[in-house]
Amino acid sequence: MAVWSKSFWRPVIKKGGKIPVFNMFINGEWVGSASSETFDVLNPHDQSVIAKVQKAGVYDARKALDAAYKARGSVKNLRAVKRAEILEKAADLLEKYKRDFVDTIVAESGKPICVTEGEVNAAKERLYYASEECKDLYGEEITGDLSPHKFDKFAMVIRQPLGVVLAISPFNYPLHIAVCKIAPAIAAGNSVICKPSSQDPICMIMFARILEAAGLPKGVFNLITGTGSDIGDVMINSEKVNMISFTGSTAVGQHIAKICGMKKLHLELGGKAPAIVLSDCDLDLAVKEVLKGALTFSGQRCDAISRVLVEEKIADKFVKKIMKEIKKWKVGNPKDRKTLVGPLINEKAVQKVELLVNDALEKGAKLLHGGKRKGLYFMPTVLDYVTTKMRIAWEETFGPVVTIIRVRNYEEAIRIANESEYGLDACIFTKDIDKALDAGLRLEDGTVSINASPSHGLGLFPFGGDKASGIGREGIRHSLMEMTKVHTIIFKKNYEP
Ligand code: NAD
Repeated sequence: MAVWSKSFWRPVIKKGGKIPVFNMFINGEWVGSASSETFDVLNPHDQSVIAKVQKAGVYDARKALDAAYKARGSVKNLRAVKRAEILEKAADLLEKYKRDFVDTIVAESGKPICVTEGEVNAAKERLYYASEECKDLYGEEITGDLSPHKFDKFAMVIRQPLGVVLAISPFNYPLHIAVCKIAPAIAAGNSVICKPSSQDPICMIMFARILEAAGLPKGVFNLITGTGSDIGDVMINSEKVNMISFTGSTAVGQHIAKICGMKKLHLELGGKAPAIVLSDCDLDLAVKEVLKGALTFSGQRCDAISRVLVEEKIADKFVKKIMKEIKKWKVGNPKDRKTLVGPLINEKAVQKVELLVNDALEKGAKLLHGGKRKGLYFMPTVLDYVTTKMRIAWEETFGPVVTIIRVRNYEEAIRIANESEYGLDACIFTKDIDKALDAGLRLEDGTVSINASPSHGLGLFPFGGDKASGIGREGIRHSLMEMTKVHTIIFKKNYEP
């Protein structure tokens, strides 16, 4: 791609060869894998190879672990003002090279350009927030006179960095999700190893260059590329890692939880967000939000609306409006500004959506729109009369499918919503303030949105899942707290006035 020929990206790419080969960033150096093995990164639009990336093995993973472990002292001692300065500079550089990041993400992930621009902007903003957070890292002082046994004592409760944070990120927000882990980790004074998804790792390799140029000391940030099955376990098991911040599927999250040992764990996992549409709602708003929630980035979002629980009495009207509005969701090349729905990430993803749609159709669902694939594109699909006997009612779809389940009333909607093993996001459309509040309290999900589809962006509001959707919360301030530990120093007073 033309943008990679700029001199700024020169260290990132190996010299020679027709197809660019990207390096890894370990201990402040741009390196290849010890085995010299690489793997291809494909453009989901046409499945052409756009670049090759290093295939790290256990030796490389150990090198990254050693580097991060050794650097943890240097970042801890890097003053907060300096950490803030580096993060701010990184944000400025991301702005400067925004076009390069946008073009890269569009090519490697198939994300439509308008959505990708939002992702890069959000990552930049997150860096600015993190630079402010560096200056906002303090604990508390507790006097002993709350207890008769502690009159002669007081404590300083301070926040300290954890040490080494291992950040493992998924394909769907290849830049933003990783930055949401890395920025607060550095703000808190940790060193970091990042392992991005093998589907679209290039933007994160480029981000390592941004951190290098921003002046982060050697070893504080390490970027390793390779498959989770090759290098995952050695990093997850390592005693050099103090915290794992993982975003990805529930299956991999559960594997990590099983083998990680005594480490702080942050897991952001799968979802199956319900949208409850009640008969008293603003129907036009509900239709727009449901489509946005179901179709943005082809539904490849953990917070995608993937079950629409509509009250029977307005279901026909709702469906009619959905059918009219869905025509606006233009499918096409993600490079085209008018495109709203691009390809899915890979063949496996398309096959999973096909499987769930076909299972629903075999069990009596009605196909009103789409249902077909072309290459890695899956057409925006509307399934009506979905029932709880169908797999699509429970399994993560990760595709552009509006899954309509007609319910008798509000109580039935709440019951079905809560029967899911997932508990990440939910939303409800109603003008009844009592029902909105009741749903807000009773829905078993980390976040409940009222009259809006789930959307998280910057992380201004804390974000995370319950049940099989994860452990812990991310977001401005919240991530920083999760990435520090409480350290208490107790003073005994020898002097009584
Ligand atoms: P995935 O679980 O396949 O991969 C996520 C990351 O884990 C990748 O970097 C992958 O290489 C790595 N990995 C895979 N096996 C590993 C192993 N054994 N050890 C260590 N690392 C391993 O997920 P994905 O397909 O990239 O992303 C989609 C999933 O992520 C969906 O389930 C989605 O709901 C979830 N997700 C959740 C959130 C959230 O905030 N809750 C956000 C985005 C995506």
